[in-house]
Amino acid sequence: MESIIIKKISPNDVERLSSIYKEVFSGFPWYEERICSASLSTNEDEICNVQYTSRLIPADYKWPLNKMERRGVVGNSENLESCVLCGKPLIDFYPSFVNQDELITEALMKPGFIGYMLEYNQIPFGFSWGYKVPTNTRTKSVNFPLIAPLLDSSGIHIEKTFYGAELGIIETKQGSGRGLLASAVRLNGARLADYKDFVVRTKNEKVLSILRRIFSGQKEKLLFNDPERNAPWYAWKFEYFDVEKISTLLSTIIEE
Ligand SMILES: [Zn+2]
Repeated sequence: MESIIIKKISPNDVERLSSIYKEVFSGFPWYEERICSASLSTNEDEICNVQYTSRLIPADYKWPLNKMERRGVVGNSENLESCVLCGKPLIDFYPSFVNQDELITEALMKPGFIGYMLEYNQIPFGFSWGYKVPTNTRTKSVNFPLIAPLLDSSGIHIEKTFYGAELGIIETKQGSGRGLLASAVRLNGARLADYKDFVVRTKNEKVLSILRRIFSGQKEKLLFNDPERNAPWYAWKFEYFDVEKISTLLSTIIEE
């Protein structure tokens, strides 16, 4: 039986995490490979967030090209150099649109940060982290000053809420419950730190199904759609955390 090793993420891990991060999010369902350079425009009328992937996207993909909203994903596009909607040049999603090194470093400094990297045979294959919901400052990917009031009006007690910032397993290493393990280890940390609510922004069905298993089969509460990114926010209560099942699961791994 393979033994998976989990390590608490420290500032020394940024470089290694950065390449796994980029690899994870270039895959399904995010396809964060390239994006229209007008995504960086400061002119509201010019902004165009269409993403481009060299991969073939599934026919039933939930976020295809949306011309009206200038978002979504164009598949099989390795030969394209400019946006099919606005004609602006394409840029790499990481690090030109989002600098993942800065994103990781920023997360590590957040109050209440809990994060782990997962390794097998000394090769990292995944990560998970989160922190207490910030209220005053935005991060590279979430506009928390905008989100915090929305959480509040959805009945979420922000002071006692853990935000699940990132969960990623390299596409070829998925399966065998590795996503469950990665998510469970950080949430167990949050549970022990006495948080009441857990919130997450995701468009990944797999993540939702993992979280339902961690929270004793409880269905997620849909809160609202993110005003900036094309993804919904969800919540669970820590009182439903399946302590027995998750403790048994975590006893099978080695923590360094
Ligand atoms: Zn464009």
